[in-house]
Amino acid sequence: MGKTVHHRSDAALGRRGFMRKLGAVGLGLAAARVTLAADDERRTLSFVHTHTGERLTAVYYAAGGYSAEALQQVNVLLRDFRDNTVFPIDPKVLDRLFLLQSECGGSEPFQVISGYRSSTTNAALRAKSTGVAEHSLHMEGRAIDVRLAGVATAELARLALLQSSGGVGFYRVSDFVHVDTGRVRSWGDPIDS
Ligand SMILES: [Zn+2]
Repeated sequence: MGKTVHHRSDAALGRRGFMRKLGAVGLGLAAARVTLAADDERRTLSFVHTHTGERLTAVYYAAGGYSAEALQQVNVLLRDFRDNTVFPIDPKVLDRLFLLQSECGGSEPFQVISGYRSSTTNAALRAKSTGVAEHSLHMEGRAIDVRLAGVATAELARLALLQSSGGVGFYRVSDFVHVDTGRVRSWGDPIDS
């Protein structure tokens, strides 16, 4: 009897061990698939700057990482066009735009109203209009003001809010959306009016 119990126990253990092994193999395959997807992924963004007229299409993420070369091209396009200061733009800002573009579909470039702003420019803008923050995230390369041809700006703002991954400001009259990588918050005109 004791022997039988012993054998059963062995068999049960063996089966459990086998299942564990299967599970591990399954997980390994899943992980491999995820890695492949990440390695394959390319994130492309197109811009046209409304003030300078400059255009850029950049594959800013490929082969599992951000492209330093493409990011530099983006930094130049998104420079402070008033005093030509180039500043590194937070790639997470680009990711927010990339997600918006993916959700909206189409291949129209983002129309850039404002990217990086030097402290001098920010102070000058603040002096002549309300609604410019004293410590704007534009001064840290962590904010951008855009619109997208073919997509209502209110819709763009709504989608940006759904991302829940930073700030969103909606400016109906000026017709642009501000997105940044600061804390999740929103301001500006009501989206549903
Ligand atoms: Zn802004």
